[in-house]
Amino acid sequence: MGMMARGMRSLLLGELVSGLSLTLRYFFKRKVTLNYPYEKGPLSPRFRGEHALRRYPNGEERCIACKLCEAICPAQAITIEAEPREDGSRRTTRYDIDMTKCIYCGFCQEACPVDAIVEGPNFEFAAESREELFYNKDKLLANGDRWESEIAQNLELDAPYR
Ligand code: SF4
Ligand code: SF4
Repeated sequence: MGMMARGMRSLLLGELVSGLSLTLRYFFKRKVTLNYPYEKGPLSPRFRGEHALRRYPNGEERCIACKLCEAICPAQAITIEAEPREDGSRRTTRYDIDMTKCIYCGFCQEACPVDAIVEGPNFEFAAESREELFYNKDKLLANGDRWESEIAQNLELDAPYR
């Protein structure tokens, strides 16, 4: 563009007009942004979010303390201690996940033979301190209780592909 044309464009506020026309064009188009946190986008059933320990419908913990999740975790984020109960069943006495180490690979969920440890759909668990991200068994079970219906639905949807 020559100097004259550039000068005329500046004089007639060409950039301003083209900018405003672009704004006007998009003003009437379908919105692509979401008013988060009031609106949220769809999540895949395979989304790997915050961890949860699940229970059976009768309230019994699913986890049988086989420690496969602890063994497979590449980040060594899981710590389990276990001992047999009076009825002979094996259950964890400690189940910790250091969420600051976790890389959300999903291996723990894949390794679990009873679908006890899962990565649920919750992605809103930002914390203000490291300590809040050291999850213990109570926290993980509480997550499971809170998200059970969504987790069960996601596992069902994903079942044909597993
Ligand atoms: S998602 Fe991966 S890194 Fe995180 S606890 Fe499970 S196995 Fe470990
Ligand atoms: S969560 Fe699953 S894989 Fe981990 S110890 Fe319990 S039963 Fe085993």
